[in-house]
Amino acid sequence: MAKYKLEYIWLDGYEPVPNLRGKTQVKEFKSFPKLEELPMWGFDGSSTRQAEGKTSDCMLKPVAAYPDTTRKNGVLVMCEVMMPDGKTPHPSNSRASILDDPGAWFGYEQEYFLYKDGAPLGFPTGGGFPPPQGEYYTAVGYKNVGNIAREIVEAHLDLCLDAGINHEGINAEVAKGQWEFQIFGKGSKNAADQMWIARYLLLRLCEKYGVDVNWHCKPLGKDVDWNGSGMHSNFSTTYMREVGGKEYFEALMAAFDKYKNEHIAVYGPDNHLRLTGLHETQSIDKFNYGIANRGASVRVPHSFVNNDYKGYLEDRRPNSQGDPYKIASRILQTIATVPTKKAGKK
Ligand code: ADP
Ligand code: MN
Ligand code: MN
Ligand code: MN
Repeated sequence: MAKYKLEYIWLDGYEPVPNLRGKTQVKEFKSFPKLEELPMWGFDGSSTRQAEGKTSDCMLKPVAAYPDTTRKNGVLVMCEVMMPDGKTPHPSNSRASILDDPGAWFGYEQEYFLYKDGAPLGFPTGGGFPPPQGEYYTAVGYKNVGNIAREIVEAHLDLCLDAGINHEGINAEVAKGQWEFQIFGKGSKNAADQMWIARYLLLRLCEKYGVDVNWHCKPLGKDVDWNGSGMHSNFSTTYMREVGGKEYFEALMAAFDKYKNEHIAVYGPDNHLRLTGLHETQSIDKFNYGIANRGASVRVPHSFVNNDYKGYLEDRRPNSQGDPYKIASRILQTIATVPTKKAGKK
């Protein structure tokens, strides 16, 4: 038997963006615990905007477990928040609203800024701006990426890979101090669980550098020529990958147009500052799609068209502060409104 440190991680009740919270429970197991072996636990919801003081208990239901190599026998336990009965999802529990669909695949491209003393890493201390955007994207060299950022980004990548997070890549982004990582997962909730754990690991890693992660979608404001941060959400269902077709695609895009406001509502706060029609975005009040068009709401990859309208699509509107649970939930809800042909019928 060994004592395992189980870090129960959940999303609190703050609006419009929940914070990650976590606390440790020590428990004995013979070997790395299976999800079914992890017990429900509770916390004081009155301290996280999830309950009143009088009846403050909320429940934590483990939904995924990952190794945490920074701690001896460490486990990162992603949890859903439940009401005291342990069965009813708490109103803040955005994961519970996602349709179960093992055939739904998501790939999220998380952009973010690293901040120190109130400005992006690499900005002049004492205010002002570095040379304009242009050379920072995918850059190498001290003048473009500084001397701490890459160390953080590389350490984060290793922590995630060690945890079994399905990172697909990392890159320096267009603005100075801005970075991206991509996560892909099969199943309607899987990539979103991994994204929240990856965000948790980045925040925790940055503590020791005295660096904050700024997830805001336009941290430098909308009136400057500095990019904002998105979380492009790539998605596909079994039907999209295996049947597809131009007719279905057009019906799907009509549904995305119809529900554009419902999508924007869960694609992260302050998105009007980012979706301006500039900096590779479409305006917030318009919906369009385009083949390989990075100024569209939905980008259709060349491969999709070449493959008879089969494959995945990229929704470019979700922003860096968006909750991947809410995003996946909304995308699948809209897809569910579009009729599909029954297999075998023409
Ligand atoms: P770009 O930066 O050009 O938009 P990336 O290569 O960074 O593209 O991201 C493409 C994303 O699409 C990746 O995150 C990948 O996981 C995701 N993806 C690829 N195939 C599928 C699929 N069939 N279903 C859902 N997502 C997919
Ligand atoms: Mn990308
Ligand atoms: Mn990017
Ligand atoms: Mn993209």
